[in-house]
Amino acid sequence: MVGVIKIFQRLRYMKRMGLTHVDTRHEIHKIERHQDLEHYKDIIYQCGKCGTCRTVYQDADWAAVCPSGEFRKFESYYLGGKNLLTWGLTSGKLKWTEHLASIFYSCTVCMACLQQCQIPEIHTYAVEWLMAMREEAVKQGYGPMPEQKLYTEHTMVENNPYMEKHGDRLNWLPSHIKQTPDAKTAYYVGCTSSYREQNVAVATAEILNSLQVDFRIHPNESCCGSPVYMTGQTEKAKKIAEENVKMFKDAGIEKIITSCAGCYRTWKDTYPNKFGLNHGIEVKHLPEFLLDKLKNGELNFSKEFNMKITYHDPCHIGRHMGIYKPPRQVLEKIPGLELLEMKRNRHNAWCCGSGGGVRSAFKDLSAFAANERIEEAKETTAEAIVSCCPFCLNQFKANIKNNEIQALDLSEIVKQII
Ligand code: SF4
Ligand code: SF4
Repeated sequence: MVGVIKIFQRLRYMKRMGLTHVDTRHEIHKIERHQDLEHYKDIIYQCGKCGTCRTVYQDADWAAVCPSGEFRKFESYYLGGKNLLTWGLTSGKLKWTEHLASIFYSCTVCMACLQQCQIPEIHTYAVEWLMAMREEAVKQGYGPMPEQKLYTEHTMVENNPYMEKHGDRLNWLPSHIKQTPDAKTAYYVGCTSSYREQNVAVATAEILNSLQVDFRIHPNESCCGSPVYMTGQTEKAKKIAEENVKMFKDAGIEKIITSCAGCYRTWKDTYPNKFGLNHGIEVKHLPEFLLDKLKNGELNFSKEFNMKITYHDPCHIGRHMGIYKPPRQVLEKIPGLELLEMKRNRHNAWCCGSGGGVRSAFKDLSAFAANERIEEAKETTAEAIVSCCPFCLNQFKANIKNNEIQALDLSEIVKQII
């Protein structure tokens, strides 16, 4: 009886309040931003400044969701405030200033706010104008932030935002990794795994070898362009995308497997849906690929991994792409592993604080967000916070103190048990 009442309450709650249960899926974001700024102005006008976008709506004890607003404490840093500023700027009532631009850049573009907003068009499209205002800041000469400008200049020359040499990109690759020269499948490593979290690259390549997947790594692999794109530098990012697509198409690549959430979103969503590059290359994120292999019986976990872990949803595959289940389904199949959920999970997950160029330009805000997530992970009593994005992993490792909890990538666990 109690169960029936609960189901009834749940249905009623979803019917009345249901928007937060609708994922902000990428398929609905296929629109040209600048052409629609006038259109957005009318949508933005619907914002009632109610503040609903500040907290997880009902699901998790009204916990905060916006790293930008929670850190800066002023309304202008929450979505409601950014809406008012956007309206003011697009209506000519406000003029761009350095400070105004820095407000728009003090945002990880994590999309947690619009997930909560109950106004349908804001819920669906707010990320479009958050990005459009960055593009506008660049056009007006107020963006990107100085640190982001620096890494962009480096990326345009050395194909990575980490101030590293392009020629060193494959230094992580051990000699025992077997590649197939004419393979149609590429492992797209990405900059963070190539230069900072090389353990993720090694683990992924070893998993692919163990599963006897014919694959290769493009010797000239470059940045996917995400750090450039996410900071409003659309034309530069598009140039990077065009070169990447040409390089991979010329090499005969038909499928990309990537262990990076940002690279995944960029190749799968940004290239076709924002740049019109319909490359036709199948793009798989590692957990999706592993799940397929588990389902068809080609992957079996032969050993136990005895650990209590909690899973952190990377924004770039979670809210940006709607992928919440595959990583959990893989983790749940691992013998000995106990998966504990954080209070804010799936579409309500708190961002790690590294995206949207925030980690380079606003280190204090970025560290605040990471520490908030680490504390939440510790509350679950998990021994490790596990993600499937090297950027999240790197962010957690940089902020965990005194080994109070481990940070792991899904690939590092899977490698040990196959
Ligand atoms: S964006 Fe939505 S939730 Fe936030 S203040 Fe405006 S109407 Fe309210
Ligand atoms: S995208 Fe994330 S950081 Fe930016 S305003 Fe929304 S919740 Fe805050």
